[in-house]
Amino acid sequence: MILTEFDYVRPAGLDEALTLLSGTRGARILAGGQSLLPDLRAGADRAALLVDIRRLEELRGVTRTPDGTGLRIGSLTTLAELAADPLVLAEAPELAAAARANGDPQVRNLGTVGGNLAAAGRATDLPVAAMAADAEVELAGPGGRSTLAAEELAAGSAPAATVLTALLVPAAGPAAAFEKTADRATRYPVCATAVRITPGGPRIAVTGATSRPLRLRGVEDRLRGGPYGTDAVLAAFRAEPRELFVPGRGTSAEYLGHLVGVLTARALQRAERALDR
Ligand SMILES: Cc1cc2nc3c(=O)[nH]c(=O)nc-3n(C[C@H](O)[C@H](O)[C@H](O)COP(=O)(O)OP(=O)(O)OC[C@H]3O[C@@H](n4cnc5c(N)ncnc54)[C@H](O)[C@@H]3O)c2cc1C
Repeated sequence: MILTEFDYVRPAGLDEALTLLSGTRGARILAGGQSLLPDLRAGADRAALLVDIRRLEELRGVTRTPDGTGLRIGSLTTLAELAADPLVLAEAPELAAAARANGDPQVRNLGTVGGNLAAAGRATDLPVAAMAADAEVELAGPGGRSTLAAEELAAGSAPAATVLTALLVPAAGPAAAFEKTADRATRYPVCATAVRITPGGPRIAVTGATSRPLRLRGVEDRLRGGPYGTDAVLAAFRAEPRELFVPGRGTSAEYLGHLVGVLTARALQRAERALDR
């Protein structure tokens, strides 16, 4: 299908972008275009005005937070940049791995952190990595700047006329990992899991197998203190209510519950090995 008609504007600054977004009915943010443009072409989404934010240099780059305890990842950072960034690889390896697992080189070169986090309605890779990291998103909107837990963003969607400006991620060192089984045709996750091992216990978030990205606090509680042997992790998943896992294309809830358990065991063991090195 061909694209429907819409207006297009490329603001030079964030304030101009916010004015356009709040002042135009049907205005939508365009970043890498890897979700929005195919959806417009397929008629699955609509826009009266595309506000292309790719000139907003303040939304690019990865830096340490001023207090040194975490990273600030600009929302226009591409998935390819995220996957290769030395700070991200050292301090938030689950995010780098989730970016690396995303689509193909073209999607990673154009798709952005903000777009992947905001692409609501589809299981994407970054939200679970952000949730396991206990990350927050930084937003700019008509009412000013605010922050929102990545878990809350994944439970709903970004407020209207709001630009996601950055992802704020506490540093973990190597104690984190991401695992995914990809759909062979689309590369989107059939299911994916991200884990962080913290002094308070493991943090575990899954997507694909569930109706939306979820922190599995029941599984976390059952595994607190370890060990993270495959049998123990699978038993912790079996204790979850079956309705949690939603059958997909050709996959039963039982299969997905088992698969995501296996992936989580693998991720926990990978994170534990990295911690011991
Ligand atoms: C062939 C193919 C394979 C793919 N495989 C995978 C995969 O394996 N895993 C996966 O997770 N994803 C996959 N994707 C999706 C892709 O990763 C996302 O489309 C991409 O990351 C979205 O980023 P973008 O910059 O292109 O967003 P866009 O397409 O520009 O925007 C997506 C949505 O986010 C909104 N948005 C964008 N930036 C912001 C912002 N800063 N603030 C607020 N809202 C914003 C837009 O308005 C739109 O609603 C695939 C896509 C394709 C085409």
